[in-house]
Amino acid sequence: MVEALAVASGKGGTGKTTATLGLGMALADEYDVTVIDADTGMANVLFHTGLSDIGTTLHEVLAGEAPVAAATYDRFGMQVVPCGTSLAGFRESDPARLRAVVADLAADTDVILLDAPAALGSRQGVLPVVLADRVVVVLQPTIPSLSDGLKAQEYAHTYDTAVAGLLFNRVTDDANIEVVSERAERYFEGETLAAVPEREVVRAARRAGEPLLAHAPESEPAVAYRTAAAALGVRERDSGAVADRFRSAVVPDQPAPVFQ
Ligand code: ADP
Ligand code: MG
Repeated sequence: MVEALAVASGKGGTGKTTATLGLGMALADEYDVTVIDADTGMANVLFHTGLSDIGTTLHEVLAGEAPVAAATYDRFGMQVVPCGTSLAGFRESDPARLRAVVADLAADTDVILLDAPAALGSRQGVLPVVLADRVVVVLQPTIPSLSDGLKAQEYAHTYDTAVAGLLFNRVTDDANIEVVSERAERYFEGETLAAVPEREVVRAARRAGEPLLAHAPESEPAVAYRTAAAALGVRERDSGAVADRFRSAVVPDQPAPVFQ
């Protein structure tokens, strides 16, 4: 039983990594969860999970220098595959190897969460969305963010990946989120999973090197991530068939252009 979900947005800083780990920890109450930092050019899962000092990361795996098991860490009730932050590591990694990595991990987990890059318009960038069964679109309740999120949805559609839902993040108390979310749902395929408020505790968790749900499990944003995870409705799949699909996924040479 396995489903791969990509967490994407149109832009950096919307909260993809925070959301990936928030959903991951919430789903880990019920499922075996593996989180992969597929944002290989702007990796930061390691800073959110107290893994900044580790030696082997996804970069070495994608460079063909290490097996994925060597870059898989047991953290906060999840399997975490962090990525390094060096430019050299990024240059030496072959994004196409991500298919085999996801396929290997699929054999041994229920849910795979891929923290996707903000810029989906490149070969490396779009692969997590190509591989995923569904994508969670992280949005801030602003027009530019919604417009960027629609591009992420377009990329998903181009590669037959469904939209699992919308996750509003950094929602300020004056954002009128009910109205914004209702309007957004007219343009997006998925429903709103939750609205996560803008709170200092989220930044404090990152500074402490812990996912929010470990740092402040009863905080308002943590509760919102659990609500979102419950609304996802993870689906049953045959692990073998899923692994085959990952292995044989076609890596786009140049992602299809997305126009707005
Ligand atoms: P991304 O992965 O999309 O670039 P991050 O998850 O790293 O985004 O979040 C970017 C920054 O915003 C981090 O410093 C994070 O702590 C902060 N942040 C994310 N969500 C919230 C929130 N709900 N309230 C306050 N700060 C947040
Ligand atoms: Mg990130």
